[in-house]
Amino acid sequence: MIVMKFGGTSVESAAAITRVAGIVRAREARRPVVVVSAMGKTTNKLLEIAGAAIGGKREEYIRQLHDLRDYHSREARLIVPLADRAELDRFLDEQFQELTELVKGLAVLGELTPRSIDAISSYGERLSSYIVTLGFRHFGMPAEHVDSRDVLITDKRHTQAAPNFPETYARLAKTIPPLAAQSVVVMGGFIASTEDGVTTTLGRGGSDYTAAIVGAGIDAEEIQIWTDVDGMLTADPTILPGGHRVKTISFAEAAELAYFGAKVLHPATVVPAIEKNIPVMILNSRRPDVPGTRITAESVHCENVVKSIACKRKITTVNIHSTRMLMAHGFLHRIFEIFDRYETPVDMVATSEVSVSLTIDSTRHIDLILGDLRQFAEATVEHDSVIVCLVGENIRHTPGVARRVFNSLDGINIRMISQGASLLNISFVVAETDLLRTVTALHEEFFATLDPNVFERKEAVHA
Ligand code: ADP
Ligand code: ASP
Ligand code: MG
Repeated sequence: MIVMKFGGTSVESAAAITRVAGIVRAREARRPVVVVSAMGKTTNKLLEIAGAAIGGKREEYIRQLHDLRDYHSREARLIVPLADRAELDRFLDEQFQELTELVKGLAVLGELTPRSIDAISSYGERLSSYIVTLGFRHFGMPAEHVDSRDVLITDKRHTQAAPNFPETYARLAKTIPPLAAQSVVVMGGFIASTEDGVTTTLGRGGSDYTAAIVGAGIDAEEIQIWTDVDGMLTADPTILPGGHRVKTISFAEAAELAYFGAKVLHPATVVPAIEKNIPVMILNSRRPDVPGTRITAESVHCENVVKSIACKRKITTVNIHSTRMLMAHGFLHRIFEIFDRYETPVDMVATSEVSVSLTIDSTRHIDLILGDLRQFAEATVEHDSVIVCLVGENIRHTPGVARRVFNSLDGINIRMISQGASLLNISFVVAETDLLRTVTALHEEFFATLDPNVFERKEAVHA
């Protein structure tokens, strides 16, 4: 068995789902279990609808609900066999009726709880997985829909739920293999439920995580993440379009890149894969013949120090300074106790005897935090920071990487620098306005020559 996960753009239209059907059919002999995201930008739309509802914007949410139904109905009708049209309409009626009632309920309450966010955002994957199942049948594949909420069991931390692995693995192992022996199993990513059957979600981008959990639960031979890029690239293409394809990367490197902002993979994805040692592939659903990126436990020898550059945007830097703390103990403790009190995770830290710089990505309680810090220290804040992170196993035993970073960034102000405890990354903070210059300079410095065993050079595009 293999798990094949298709992201939002890969199932955004009838044409996209048709491509997906072709890709899956070509691998039918490997007994694929297909995990799909919501179609296109549906999750964002659902959240906008919820926002309009609690904002009392009735006309707006009614129109948005109509648009969403039209979109699903229009694309689905193109790929659902005539014989199944009535079933499709019944299904859409039922789903949108339920959803509309839920949204109206929110409008009355005027309040959005994490639990209701999950209830609303789950509709994207509920719709897409069912539509894709009917579509596969249209293309002559026996397909069976499994509601992920019956097999993925989580805690109650709505919008960021954590799987109950023993229970989930037991259910997956019991349910999926017998079905996969006969048909292509199709499931929605991202959605799950509590023991009591209340809908939860695994967090934004969580369909990758679903795929990995399913893969581990059924001991799949491979987990394939099909998306809209050729694989893991040497730079985030939304910042620097000229990145090269990384052919192979280790679990540890991929996890680090994902954590530091490489959206192509949800950061938790590699955890179940590592546990069961299942290789993960990143592949392009528009160019299925490109071999993509292979993520495995063993690292392949690489002449380059760095594998890729990741960026985490919209970060805030807090600089704390206190001469009173010179030679005194407990400075760091007092600082972290404050961030802890306001449940604000700290990403990066750099310290000296009397000053500490750190980064946070949630500024919800920043005023309260600053108030408390200023009881014993000076504290200043720099918004619009970006963490830029170089990742590569070789960083740990190559001297001089920091020097190369500083030299190539001559003239750019580095707000903070830290070498992670894992030793396979060097991260630093720059201003958002310096981001493109920073990534361009680093990419030139670290990827001018490429180890052909590990990278495939992107052909220069001439206008
Ligand atoms: P999906 O909907 O298939 O899950 P995502 O949008 O979540 O797709 O992830 C794919 C996107 O990740 C790419 O379109 C790209 O813009 C972004 N991305 C960020 N960093 C990288 C990277 N290093 N390599 C490839 N893609 C990256
Ligand atoms: N549809 C969800 C999201 O947009 C999950 C996913 O696509 O991975 O976040
Ligand atoms: Mg994604």
